[in-house]
Amino acid sequence: MSSDASDTGCIFCAIARGDIPSDGVYADDHVIAFRDISPQAPSHVLVAPRRHVASIDELRDDRELLGRVLAAAVAVAQSENLAESGYRLATNHGRDGAQSVAHWHVHVLGGRALSGRLG
Ligand code: 5GP
Ligand code: ZN
Repeated sequence: MSSDASDTGCIFCAIARGDIPSDGVYADDHVIAFRDISPQAPSHVLVAPRRHVASIDELRDDRELLGRVLAAAVAVAQSENLAESGYRLATNHGRDGAQSVAHWHVHVLGGRALSGRLG
């Protein structure tokens, strides 16, 4: 897995650069958030670092970026008015984790009662 600053084949890097359109809900110097193209709930937002990181598994020692992305995910959940009804943050790593896009992202899901099952 690559950690290049700009991964030419990466769809989320292209979204971060603005080369591919997305329905953005939040952005700062380090983090972007945009609506999932195939939403699994009324609110389904993806929160990702701007720089290419293939998976959370590469970030164990980067608490700053971990914190920035998680804090942005909470801010997105609150701006989606999910705090009272509840929401789920989820991140997938690798084959068994069913990660399909190799650029780390946290799913923010809410707006309906989610299953108690995790897989
Ligand atoms: P993963 O399975 O890696 O945890 O989640 C990848 C998510 O990215 C999926 O929910 C999928 O619908 C979403 N996705 C894939 N391609 C695009 C895209 O081009 N734009 C947006 N907004 N979401 C995408
Ligand atoms: Zn990328």
